[in-house]
Amino acid sequence: MATRFVIIGGGPAGNTAATYAARLGAQVTLVERDVIGGAAHLWDCIPSKTMIATGGAIAFTRRLEGMGLEQQQPEVDVDALTERIESIKTRLQHGTTRLLSSQGVEMVHGSARFLGPNEVEVTSPDGVRILHADAVLIATGSRPRIPEWCRPDGDRILITRDCYPPKVFPESITVVGSGVTGVEFVHMFSSFGAKVTLVVSRQQVLPGKDPEVAAVLEDDFLRRGVRLLKGARATAIERVTSEEGAESGVDEVVVRCDDGRVVRSSHAVLAIGSVPNTDGLGLELAGVETDRGYVTINRHCQSNVVHIYAAGDMSGKLPLSSVASMQGRKVAEHVMGLHKVAHRHLDYDKAASAIFTEPEIADVGLAEADAFAVGRKIRVTKVPFSSTPKALINNDWRGFVKIISDPATGVVLGGSIVGRHAAELISVIALAVTANLKVTDIVESLLVHPALSEALAEAAE
Ligand SMILES: Cc1cc2nc3c(=O)[nH]c(=O)nc-3n(C[C@H](O)[C@H](O)[C@H](O)COP(=O)(O)OP(=O)(O)OC[C@H]3O[C@@H](n4cnc5c(N)ncnc54)[C@H](O)[C@@H]3O)c2cc1C
Repeated sequence: MATRFVIIGGGPAGNTAATYAARLGAQVTLVERDVIGGAAHLWDCIPSKTMIATGGAIAFTRRLEGMGLEQQQPEVDVDALTERIESIKTRLQHGTTRLLSSQGVEMVHGSARFLGPNEVEVTSPDGVRILHADAVLIATGSRPRIPEWCRPDGDRILITRDCYPPKVFPESITVVGSGVTGVEFVHMFSSFGAKVTLVVSRQQVLPGKDPEVAAVLEDDFLRRGVRLLKGARATAIERVTSEEGAESGVDEVVVRCDDGRVVRSSHAVLAIGSVPNTDGLGLELAGVETDRGYVTINRHCQSNVVHIYAAGDMSGKLPLSSVASMQGRKVAEHVMGLHKVAHRHLDYDKAASAIFTEPEIADVGLAEADAFAVGRKIRVTKVPFSSTPKALINNDWRGFVKIISDPATGVVLGGSIVGRHAAELISVIALAVTANLKVTDIVESLLVHPALSEALAEAAE
């Protein structure tokens, strides 16, 4: 009899696991309480990147003059933008649903919870159904963290999910949180013309990232008039409306910081991380252990109950859609016993990631600071894009490529890219890191001319 594999959550982790497991012969039931595609399609990656792409197009028009064209001032059509976001989401959801159907995955709409280690109850408007499983994947994702000191109203005090697009475009906005999501939202709103203040709890945006990379972004923010409030932690966010103010349509949001500084703006958005969707799942009935709400997993994504797996944001590893999908794929292989034949373990240290700001930022593998921290000898080469003809042709020569390699063997260990198309270009370094390629493999690849990738070859020299 085929393995009965029940998956809870239809985001990148769940739907990828479902597709691969079904392809490998499992009898797969995928339970989703909202829409297939998950928060990634509905609330996070796709709508945020769609908004950023439109904002980027506006930013691009500011560079037209240097390209021999007249300066343009585009107007935002909020209805058209909303329609564009919705149509992209719908198209992707339909594509994923079609793929799952074509592999024979049974999709059940409803909310799931464990009744025991091999039993999952699904509640939907149509009633309650019990599923019996040989293996279960928990892939229920995460949601934005909302602290006690803030009550988002979806109108002026926002969480990221209220922003695609917001009901009223902000004249000014305070972004609380300077991690990846925070800086992307700074870029997004400032591209749309808002006056932006960023509350940065440390002395650097993107804490934990290469300081050289963060510095390029900070410079760009300052050049665009973004106010950086460094070393400040928000402690309260309130909407203040005087009667007189409300009548004349003037509302303000006041963000108070622990060092006494106060920021006033028309809107504020919280970007201070997420919490796992594991409450109400009945994990205790299945005997599954958690740590601060995240299911603890081993390298095969198995929980302490060996036939119950966890993948994606609620597994507490890297909160990236790409990582969630790869975990899902690895879980499918493990459930179907493929790991005994041919299986490459997932190495989270080799995950590429990108930040969709202007300029774009991407990195993969070993970071310079981490190597220094453990006294590891490395070779670092850095080449500015301004040395490539394509950057001059593009009228955009900001940023650089940095490649980190082993001085003894030449094996590529990591790298970072700041600049146009960084998220695409990092793939070359990511492949080199995953496949243990050497710098000479990049140097000797016959790349395109003129192209930004020439900076990669130069950095690998
Ligand atoms: C603003 C923002 C932008 C982002 N941009 C990027 C990006 O550009 N690139 C990138 O790689 N990552 C990005 N991420 C991260 C990415 O969105 C997540 O890492 C990814 O969605 C995780 O996938 P998942 O499968 O774990 O969960 P999700 O995508 O959250 O899917 C989980 C699904 O489980 C369902 N579910 C939950 N509980 C139950 C239940 N009890 N029963 C049934 N169904 C249930 C939910 O409805 C949901 O559909 C971004 C995150 C944010 C916040």
